[in-house]
Amino acid sequence: MQNLKNNSKALHTGHITTLTEGTRAVPIYQTTSYIFNNTDHAADVFALKEDGYIYTRLNNPTNSILENRLSSIEGGIGAVVFASGTATISTTFLTLLKAGDHIVASNSLYGGTYNILNVTLPRFNIATSFVDPADPSNFEYAINDNTKAIFIEALGNPKLDIIDIEKVSCVAKRNNIPLIVDNTVPSPALLNPIKFGADIVIHSLTKFIGGHGNSLGGVVIDAGSFDWTSGRFPEFTEPSEGYQGIVYDELFGKAAFIAKLRIEGLRDYGGALSPTNAFHIIQGLETLYVRIKRHSENALEIARWLESKNEVAWVVYPGLDSYKHKNLARKYLPSGQSGIVTFGLTGGFDAAKKFTDSTKIFSLLANIGDTKSLIIHPASTTHQQLTEEQQVSTGVTRDLIRLSIGLEDVTDLKNDINQALSNL
Ligand SMILES: *Cc1c(COP(=O)(O)O)cnc(C)c1O
Repeated sequence: MQNLKNNSKALHTGHITTLTEGTRAVPIYQTTSYIFNNTDHAADVFALKEDGYIYTRLNNPTNSILENRLSSIEGGIGAVVFASGTATISTTFLTLLKAGDHIVASNSLYGGTYNILNVTLPRFNIATSFVDPADPSNFEYAINDNTKAIFIEALGNPKLDIIDIEKVSCVAKRNNIPLIVDNTVPSPALLNPIKFGADIVIHSLTKFIGGHGNSLGGVVIDAGSFDWTSGRFPEFTEPSEGYQGIVYDELFGKAAFIAKLRIEGLRDYGGALSPTNAFHIIQGLETLYVRIKRHSENALEIARWLESKNEVAWVVYPGLDSYKHKNLARKYLPSGQSGIVTFGLTGGFDAAKKFTDSTKIFSLLANIGDTKSLIIHPASTTHQQLTEEQQVSTGVTRDLIRLSIGLEDVTDLKNDINQALSNL
């Protein structure tokens, strides 16, 4: 069972059926807490001398199976799941950073992440420099003595620019800074950033992994590749006031970060995933490899077809011949380019709103990665808080329409787009 391919791991890893009464499906351990054998046992588990479950805010058997499975597929040494992708991202930053620290981030980011970095963390005196990721040396120019993380999205949402993870990872390594990659849009079925040098991988499980639009979740996977002992990260090499004076690097070695993320991140910020949602996300993960192939095929066909339409001014999809960074698409997404397509109409902003109001199969909502096809006009919704300048730097032009292509018959999707175009 150790040497399974990733698509088989998505079905099996982490579930030891002899420990769950032979249940073929992963059971939902819907409990808040766990009975200790006696007070000595309780003391040892609390003191981290013995592995064991304490309280579901920290760990839970259903969640553990999801964590093991995702860690194994991404090639990590450990994972922690959270209640949402956003809880994952904010807890990662709050675990890694303190007042005075600095992040270098790509400017092509999910709107919520952009807001955490641009507005919320500065309130705690944590600053971010946003750089154009098209040239990896921009990351290097922005690094200063206080820089503690480089943050990128493998495939920017919604700009759909692919970042040269390997080159950015060289910059990170040269400067002893961990590289964090949000891999939500490709999903682990199309891209494994750890292979290209990522130290920490993040997913919103809400999207393609859960895949059915029913449960929020997030995960952090630790590659175990980062050396925390360079002097830049004293919280890992000096006694932790927050947990009985333990030294994370001494006690956990390569797993220092993922251990701190659970022990302090979940304890203090409390963004634990509900075991029932973990169960729903596991159902999604089991079919991820089959679904993402169909999402990708449908999206490529729709993108090509849109390019042939008179009303359409431009289309961006990493599988298209017209895609700007074709060499990066070939390198990082050779077996499919996921389900997100963006395009603009010759009629601009007004036409984009009208089109978005007219689709019948495509649901107007703020999500991606559902089995069903979705549509949104970011400039008037998810990105409306941004200034026009910020909208441009995050890749959200005023005419941009974002489609998340579902698993429907592609003919039905084309018919729906045609009828919406005829309404313009
Ligand atoms: C949706 C999304 C998030 C946030 O995840 P939630 O589960 O909605 O909190 C983060 N990053 C990317 C790329 C996303 O698409």
